[in-house]
Parts: sequence; C-alpha cells; structure tokens
Amino acid sequence: MDLHKGSCLCGEVNYKLDSEIKRVVNCHCNFCRSHSGAAFSTFAVVPFASLEIAKGKEKISAFQFGGGEKHFCGTCGTPIFNVNKKYPGLCMIYLGTLEKAGDITPAVNIWCESKLGWVDTLSSIHSLAQGPERK
Ligand SMILES: [Zn+2]
Ligand SMILES: [Zn+2]
Repeated sequence: MDLHKGSCLCGEVNYKLDSEIKRVVNCHCNFCRSHSGAAFSTFAVVPFASLEIAKGKEKISAFQFGGGEKHFCGTCGTPIFNVNKKYPGLCMIYLGTLEKAGDITPAVNIWCESKLGWVDTLSSIHSLAQGPERK
C-alpha cells in the first residue's frame, strides 16, 4: 500500500512510499544548508526499500558530498532525497516534496550547533498571509 506520495516541482519525478515515516527531523547542519539553499532542511526518514520512484527515474541526478549522496530532479533541480553512509538502509526525503507535507510535523532538531541564530525567532518576525504587494 502506498502511504505517501511526492514529486518534484516540474512533475517529471514522482515517488511513492510504502511504509510509515520513521522520524521527521529538521537538520541545521552546514551541508544541508548548502545543498538545499535554505536555512535548514526538513527530512522524512524512511527505509530506503520503501521508496519507489514511480516516474522519472532517469531524470534523477545525484551529487556526492561527505558520506552522503543528494538526489534531485535533473530538470527542475528540486532536491528529492539523500542517502548517507552513516545511516545505511535509510533515506531522507525532503519534506517539501511530499504531497501531504502539511500533515507531517518534525519531532527533533539536529545539528543545532550550526543552527542559524535567527531560526528560533521565526514566530516573532513580522508575518504576512501572502507575498508583499509590489510597490
Ligand atoms: Zn522536476
Ligand atoms: Zn544536515
């Protein structure tokens, strides 16, 4: 049974997960910051064997870093998942690619020693429901 589905921005890569998500983590390490381009990365951790690339396997590019490998859509650049030698048998799915990302809540922050100082003040920053009006 497919419990979760996801895709990249352009839709050329589609995947399914046939197991529950084991853990959801916010990673604040410098590697994740560089290869996502964001302040931190949120990952759903699943057994690698439960990941099925349903469409676009040939579109996926890989890049090796440290002990890990990032997999992303070669057409639109969306990062899809990482694997890491430190965590054999697991893969880290980029939360934003999951269809139901809004239903999944992180349980732990990791690599907080390299977390950006302003992350903890997010909820107190001036917030708009949508993008600002163009002036
Ligand atoms: Zn794509
Ligand atoms: Zn990281």
